[in-house]
Amino acid sequence: MNAHDGMYIDGSWRPAAGSGTIEVVNPADEQVIATVPAGDAEDVDAAVRAARAALPGWAATPPARRGEYLAALRDALAARQEEIAATVTAELGAPTGFATRVHTGLPIAVAGSYAELAASHSFEERIGTSTVLHEPVGVVGAITPWNYPLHQIVAKVAPALAAGCTVVLKPAEDTPLTARLFAECVHAAGIPAGVFNLVTGLGPVAGQALAEHPGVDLVSFTGSTAVGKRIGAIAGAAVKRVALELGGKSANVILPGADLAKAVAANVADVCRNTGQSCNALTRTLVHADQYEEAVALAAAAVAEFVPGDPTDPGVRVGPLVNAKQHARVRGYIDRGIEEGARLVAGGPTVPEGRDKGYYVAPTVFADVTPEMTIAREEIFGPVLSFLKYEDEEEALRIANDTVYGLAAAVWAADEEQAAAFARRLEAGQVEVNGGRFNILAPFGGYKESGVGRELGVHGLGEYLQTKSLQF
Ligand code: NAD
Repeated sequence: MNAHDGMYIDGSWRPAAGSGTIEVVNPADEQVIATVPAGDAEDVDAAVRAARAALPGWAATPPARRGEYLAALRDALAARQEEIAATVTAELGAPTGFATRVHTGLPIAVAGSYAELAASHSFEERIGTSTVLHEPVGVVGAITPWNYPLHQIVAKVAPALAAGCTVVLKPAEDTPLTARLFAECVHAAGIPAGVFNLVTGLGPVAGQALAEHPGVDLVSFTGSTAVGKRIGAIAGAAVKRVALELGGKSANVILPGADLAKAVAANVADVCRNTGQSCNALTRTLVHADQYEEAVALAAAAVAEFVPGDPTDPGVRVGPLVNAKQHARVRGYIDRGIEEGARLVAGGPTVPEGRDKGYYVAPTVFADVTPEMTIAREEIFGPVLSFLKYEDEEEALRIANDTVYGLAAAVWAADEEQAAAFARRLEAGQVEVNGGRFNILAPFGGYKESGVGRELGVHGLGEYLQTKSLQF
């Protein structure tokens, strides 16, 4: 059977139980590029049964052997990197260069990191008179979003498989084609049947059925805070493990004495990255009153370099937003910013020149944003940057932490020590210090309503393990 006709369950592609379908749309030109089946509770049940049946064998597979399978998966992904990147460009609208460097390059590296961790991690330890075993939690239900379609899948599936868990994945409606290619790579890597299963479908149907299925021991979800709260409630009622990676409204604090031009340029690039569709985007820039206008002018100049365009054009750095819904949502926030009195410095709600077709939005900068404004409080998920003003460090800290979210933050200061001291006081899961780089071995996850649990590295592995103590 053609992969595009079915679900990947128990090591093979099979037809969906129902006849529902999902259309995949290219956001650059609004054309339907594929149709995939919309799985339902019956498909989810078949996938969970396959995962349960495969669990004892996979959990008993020596971790080093599981690591070999993950290395084969990494190689299978790398062998098809170009094709996967082109698919991410087609269904998400990510510019070609970014699709290769980040959308596929990052998850290939993450898969490799778990190939190594599976082999090197100690799944047993001695504590006093006890031997403590770190055992797989069991069957994982993974529900992923569209914004980094391959990375979000690998960030769950690779540690789960390294830990000895089996998985049922329900990927986002907008980006099922990348998920299919991932399933093909799992198959090519020779990973035993049932260890990984894919059910494409709608969130409230297939996603909810997966979260509610009694055969699922852990639900790992990335997406909106609203859906995350529902998943948390379902898992709580059934006393099953849950990991949630949710939204953010991350602050970028530029302290007096920092390299202002460098800090602002990095911030503009960050908020345009993936057309602003990154949960850790630094969307609130906090600048001291004395440097405020200079910073705003620097941002207006920098953002002019980010002209939205056809993502398949190698010179383009900003593509369209993922779909019509997000397009309307982001433009609604821009309108709201203007209505509430923020000063529009660049961009705005009008369609970027020559981009009448496709879900394009102009990268936008607002000044005179106050902490009470909607654009300073809610996650926009588009290339919209807000500048806020502070008078002293204590006020900067107060504004930065004045949010229900706590995913990421950044601090810029004259020296690293001063920046790090400030970073320690921020309520966020990861803080970039003077432009620090993303580290795929460091834990990623949120404080407060940005989530529960951590992904990546050894902390990500720990999410999929439960401990048993043998008392001697
Ligand atoms: P979403 O939360 O609706 O979807 C994420 C995943 O959850 C998808 O696979 C979806 O099918 C599934 N889902 C939806 N409803 C469900 C339900 N009732 N039960 C089980 N699964 C369900 O997110 P979205 O609509 O794709 O994006 C909306 C907003 O979410 C964005 O504007 C952004 O604020 C946020 N978001 C955050 C991240 C992140 O990485 N933290 C990623 C994508 C979106």
